[in-house]
Amino acid sequence: MMTILQEAAVGEIAVGRHLDMDYIIGDQQIHDEVVDWFEGIAENAGQTQTHTLQRIIQLNHATEYLRRYFGDDLRVRDMDPAELESLFTSVVPLVSHPDLDPYIQRIADGDSSPILTSEPITMLSLSSGTTDGRPKYVPFTRFSAQSTLQTFRLAAAYRSRVFPIRPGGRILEFIYSSKQFLTKGGLSVGTATTHYFASEEFKTKQKSSKSFTCSPYEVISGGDYKATTYCHLLLGLALCDQVEFVTSTFAYSIVQAFAAFEELWEELCEDLREGSLSSRVSSPEMRMAVLKSFSPNPGLATRIGSKCRELKMRWNWWRLIPTLWPNAKYIYSIMTGSMQPYLNKLRHYAGDLPLISADYGSTESWIGVNLEPSNPPDKVSFTAIPTFSYFEFIPLYNYKQQGEDHRDISNITISSTTDDFSEGQPLPLSRVKVGQHYEIVLTTFTGLYRYRLGDVVEVTGFYKGSPQLTFVCRRKLILTINIDKNTEKDLQMAVEKGSTLLATQDKNMMMMSRAELVDFTSHADVTEQPGHYVIYWEVKGEAVEEAVLRECCSAMDAAFVDHGYVVSRRTNSIGRLELRVVEKGTFGKILEHYIGNGAAVSQFKMPRCTNNQVLLTILDRCTVKRFWSSAYG
Ligand code: AMP
Repeated sequence: MMTILQEAAVGEIAVGRHLDMDYIIGDQQIHDEVVDWFEGIAENAGQTQTHTLQRIIQLNHATEYLRRYFGDDLRVRDMDPAELESLFTSVVPLVSHPDLDPYIQRIADGDSSPILTSEPITMLSLSSGTTDGRPKYVPFTRFSAQSTLQTFRLAAAYRSRVFPIRPGGRILEFIYSSKQFLTKGGLSVGTATTHYFASEEFKTKQKSSKSFTCSPYEVISGGDYKATTYCHLLLGLALCDQVEFVTSTFAYSIVQAFAAFEELWEELCEDLREGSLSSRVSSPEMRMAVLKSFSPNPGLATRIGSKCRELKMRWNWWRLIPTLWPNAKYIYSIMTGSMQPYLNKLRHYAGDLPLISADYGSTESWIGVNLEPSNPPDKVSFTAIPTFSYFEFIPLYNYKQQGEDHRDISNITISSTTDDFSEGQPLPLSRVKVGQHYEIVLTTFTGLYRYRLGDVVEVTGFYKGSPQLTFVCRRKLILTINIDKNTEKDLQMAVEKGSTLLATQDKNMMMMSRAELVDFTSHADVTEQPGHYVIYWEVKGEAVEEAVLRECCSAMDAAFVDHGYVVSRRTNSIGRLELRVVEKGTFGKILEHYIGNGAAVSQFKMPRCTNNQVLLTILDRCTVKRFWSSAYG
């Protein structure tokens, strides 16, 4: 019988074939095999990458796209892998999604000739962002689902060493499928997680880990995210003593679910007592599946009800999760990058329960796995998985740093992009340097070649031969009016500075306020001269004094340290920053707008800056107060 180690030949993740084997061999053996497999490929990460690329080219060199660059008579089989790698990186250009969009569009329209991959593509995923106002499509193949399964297995194996869980337990999983639709050419389109939840691999994961999600598939795929959340919570409560951990793809979904729980707990207890289901859930399939999954339990309902009353009255829902799910060992979700703003709220619900930051990937490809689950979310790094894709790294140098920086920058080309970075030549994974920032470039088994992902990472070390990456930010600037350049991370830091003042709102600093920032976004308003930044906040809890909000506004303005911004503010070529406070539920409306357009809560990331007229109309209609900064006099 083949072992996972043998199956995972370079560039192949044939994990779905041995379902039955997973039943036969014990959990520990599966974990050990996955770990052995990974340690082997990490040891020889550089060589593994060269072979991964060779495999991708062997499979797809006859496609229309690669023939454009390789010509018709590339003799792949006769070529040395290193020679092929150097040919590939010299003739195939770096591209971004818009460059590949015409090819993907033809696939979407039903052209089944080998355009990007030799195997026909039958599914497309929706990735974050848009191309010319249209959602961004990315090819999804069996390989995508297999690599997701292998990532989960790998992460679970390392997690189990520090935080073992009981086999046979349950997972309270806040996962959601998006609406799926067919393209003109009949290809099924949904988010990558939607395809994964519907795949064999998702079932395999549950069977092989012997941990089943609390909700049946009808709940996950129900399409109405509020009803799905209600059912996840209800079944999670019904199975509360068996839940081993709480999870979601991105942390936003967990925070969202427990914010809903604060409003729904009485109704949930009622359903639990009676074995009934709220009329909030209208889908007959979902109703039937849920009602079959639990029985009336008046004793449990009474216990949970009294815990909830105490959590609400005495603790403002602090430690909600361990109080109601006493056997949960940890919370596992992506907590880095654009999820950081939800971390405080998550900590509040988690109390002393460990928060484990989940792995790093994208619709385009999985990238790295968290091998050190005991690290807190702000210290987490992701070790690149060298068989999933061929990775290149474009060194990024910050203009501001160059004067004081003595790194070798002889290879730098000043980029024509409008951001703050100059770029070096792309490097293979084996040549990256610790401490350096890079943009990730992917060549995948799903037909993306030298594709700029747009994420900025920092190399923080190596695990054997494989680099460990921390996520820095999306490269794209979000706030820029003239010479100012601010990324999502800059905005996030400014908002963090401003919102800390909400917690100490009392004049005498005696009483801590219970006001908190629920969510935020921004807009560079250039309709009047000078243009200025507008930041929208939804605040929850006790009423905040206007003087405090004015201070928050000035603190945010002062917190943008980008030189271009500071100079522009001093000379008033950028106007005073404006804080607009929006009414309760505004960001929920934004979520609904996105869900209506095919997004899924599982992969949802609140846009941190918007020019979208629909969103601006929602935000402006819901604005209840406006404040202007006095940071620059
Ligand atoms: P999507 O494929 O549209 O769901 O989004 C993928 C993007 O989410 C990546 O390109 C990153 O920008 C972000 N992302 C994914 N995983 C992480 C992570 N662990 N930490 C921070 N950001 C992440």
